[in-house]
Amino acid sequence: MNNFNYIKADSPDHAIQQISDRQRTFLLAGGTNIIDLWKYNLTHPDTLVDLSQIKGLKTIHTLENGGLHLGALVSNSDTAHHELVKSKYPLLSKTILAGATAQIRNSATNGGNLMQRTRCHYFYDAAAPCNKRNPGSGCPAIKGHNRMHAILGHSDQCIAVFPSDMCIALAALDAIVKVKSSRGERIIKFSDFHRLPGDQPEKDNTLENDELIIAIELPNEGFSDHYSYLKLRDRNSYAFALISVATGLVLDGQIIQKANIALGGVAHQPWRVPEAEEFLIGKDATPENFANAADIILAGAKGFEHNSFKIPLAKQAIIRNGAMALHPERQRPGAQPSL
Ligand code: SF4
Repeated sequence: MNNFNYIKADSPDHAIQQISDRQRTFLLAGGTNIIDLWKYNLTHPDTLVDLSQIKGLKTIHTLENGGLHLGALVSNSDTAHHELVKSKYPLLSKTILAGATAQIRNSATNGGNLMQRTRCHYFYDAAAPCNKRNPGSGCPAIKGHNRMHAILGHSDQCIAVFPSDMCIALAALDAIVKVKSSRGERIIKFSDFHRLPGDQPEKDNTLENDELIIAIELPNEGFSDHYSYLKLRDRNSYAFALISVATGLVLDGQIIQKANIALGGVAHQPWRVPEAEEFLIGKDATPENFANAADIILAGAKGFEHNSFKIPLAKQAIIRNGAMALHPERQRPGAQPSL
């Protein structure tokens, strides 16, 4: 029997008062990951703080600067189907709908999506060593089953990948994350939110122990004319990405004015390489130029016994998604090619 305290928070400040020790106090939003972790005997909260009734974190609205505010507790489904998201940020809508299942998206929240843990199968096996779950115990994935694992940014401590689809679009869209604690609010650039494993693989992100995500905000530029999300996976539904690419382009004719490219399934965080995006500015939107950008993005990539195939696959995905972004109207809603 695992006894625990249950607190239903009625405001962000009420929740913040409870979370000074995140090691023992867990937050419940949609519950689509924490309940799994609990059932698998991987986590044992002393206190569970239920956020689900905090109404102030459930809004989507336009910002004064033309951007968009996404409340942390809005469900993934409500976000993906919101008119403002579909019309101005269709890349985000499409990316959310490529993830999980309709039932999970109905329950999962925007803040929770950022906080989900890796799906490395050793991490979910309480009998296996795992540096992320039990620092210093080892990483069996490095010489084990590593087909789904990282090719970029890994360390000798952990080669896990961050599993989100939604966050790949948020990275490409230059989102920011608004967080709050008893010290006040602060903003974290999306590119600074998730971290690489280094020698502290137990830390997934840069959130402080006492901070609560209250919103995600998008800038005015939504790449609604030229965007694409390509997710390559073993089956066409309810599977995590082997490789995914979110691309947003601003074009003047065929000339690229702005190119944002984020990769999923390759690292412990959504992967962007500013040098590759700068390389594309002023160039024709051709497969050759996307191929050269892909080489910059994948410089330094290193695979393991079972996942080296991801490196050439990622290059082809970047090239193909660049072409798809030129004509988003040709993509069937929700359609995702499988391998
Ligand atoms: Fe654990 Fe990371 Fe190794 Fe997976 S890759 S077993 S999460 S340390």
